[in-house]
Amino acid sequence: MCTTCNEARANPGGYRLFAEGCLHCAARRIQYIQRSMVMAPSDKQQRCRTALAQAMVLGLPEKEIRRMAKLAAWQLRPAEEMPAASLPARARRGE
Ligand SMILES: [Zn+2]
Repeated sequence: MCTTCNEARANPGGYRLFAEGCLHCAARRIQYIQRSMVMAPSDKQQRCRTALAQAMVLGLPEKEIRRMAKLAAWQLRPAEEMPAASLPARARRGE
């Protein structure tokens, strides 16, 4: 789960926060630069390169970010349900 993706869900094209280490945020950041920022194409290219480099430093896969950034839909991490195993164990009382 990524809270930044969750918060961006309502308006992904206007949300300017991108969580570090989140693949979907990294892809959305590239999309944001390409779609929502007004600047010269060469500047955009440079910004995208920088964003991609920063994501790679954090260990995110370049190929996957590039692939996701090309998709039509804004990239948001799906709000998956918390797996049961990660829920805190409930204390048992004398049963
Ligand atoms: Zn995210």
